[in-house]
Amino acid sequence: MEIKELERVQTGVLGKVMQMGHEQVVFCYDEHTGLRAMIAIHNTTLGPALGGTRMWNYATEEEALTDVLRLSRGMTFKAAISGLNLGGGKAVIMGDASKLKTEAFMRRFGKFVNSLGGKYITAEDVNMKTADMEFISMETKHVTGLPESMGGGGDPSPVTAYGTYLGMKATAKKVFGSDSLAGKRVGVQGVGQVGMHLVDHLIKENAKVFITDISDEKVDAVAAKTGAIPVPMEKIYSLDMDIYAPCALGATLNDETIPQLKCAVVAGAANNQLKDETRHGYMLIDRGITYAPDFLINAGGLINVYNEYVGNYNRQRAYEQAEKIYTTCLNILNLASREKISSQEAAIRTAENRITEVGRVRIPR
Ligand code: NAD
Repeated sequence: MEIKELERVQTGVLGKVMQMGHEQVVFCYDEHTGLRAMIAIHNTTLGPALGGTRMWNYATEEEALTDVLRLSRGMTFKAAISGLNLGGGKAVIMGDASKLKTEAFMRRFGKFVNSLGGKYITAEDVNMKTADMEFISMETKHVTGLPESMGGGGDPSPVTAYGTYLGMKATAKKVFGSDSLAGKRVGVQGVGQVGMHLVDHLIKENAKVFITDISDEKVDAVAAKTGAIPVPMEKIYSLDMDIYAPCALGATLNDETIPQLKCAVVAGAANNQLKDETRHGYMLIDRGITYAPDFLINAGGLINVYNEYVGNYNRQRAYEQAEKIYTTCLNILNLASREKISSQEAAIRTAENRITEVGRVRIPR
């Protein structure tokens, strides 16, 4: 392509797609139901692109596109580093989930997923429920996250929480010399599906757990059940703690929050925790904080849906596969210190190496 043409393209929508190396982005619109969605397929070298569908009331189309591009790229790395034969993809639906979702709306989305012929496989993400997956499954077989009664793997969150807990233990081993979390002060931001299960594991191991959430109801319920100590939302970053576990939204590791952190470890389930992958990865190192790469330690949910996708779902097998997160995490942290690079960079490098190596096996040259 001519340089002039390349520059022109890079400023547009296609330019954004090119910058992160995506294979394909599909824009979907249905006049009848009002469905507006984007499906991003980042990389299918290792297998079909599997990733959840998120419904969000994005302020602009650009915001939705950025989200779907970032999330689908993360899925490529997550699958690759977890040893799964899957590529990375993601879908976003624009609009208010509480107002727009109907059977027809979800089935129309299912038809769009089906039109990709299995290159993209969908699953649950923010504002999607198992019931939505059931409607999608009426129009396509390329869907996971179905209830166990339908042969699916059910809610993936407990497996995600278990993997995150093991990743946290591996990081503790690297930093404190022991993987025991007994007596460690852990701040959990967000006690939703994953956070609340993570708190259970931590309490069982006698960690001292602090929790925060936008929802007072959730905080009260988890505190009453587990004895975890509630803290105000704005206090979580500067809390005197050993481990910070972001389990709410992405980008909470940024210029404003990192200087407040007093912990030695960050290990949580939220996707895209580093606002700027490179800059904030190194900013954590400068502050002596060890970061467990999010896409590595929160891969339990993907491992669970992968088990559903390959068939004969077995929860025990999914948990056993998620246990590998401990060793992989330790290996990545050791690689990062050996090579003097950030743990995020070490994790991405490892994921990319697998894609390149396996890609060569599949298309021998
Ligand atoms: P969830 O919606 O059930 O829980 C998120 C919780 O965070 C909610 O309780 C919400 O009120 C709270 N929250 C939102 N903003 C907050 C803020 N600023 N401060 C404190 N709390 C806040 O979602 P989930 O399924 O538990 O997922 C949590 C994170 O883990 C998300 O980033 C998700 O993308 C990621 N993740 C989830 C899975 C899974 O299996 N569910 C898998 C991989 C990654």
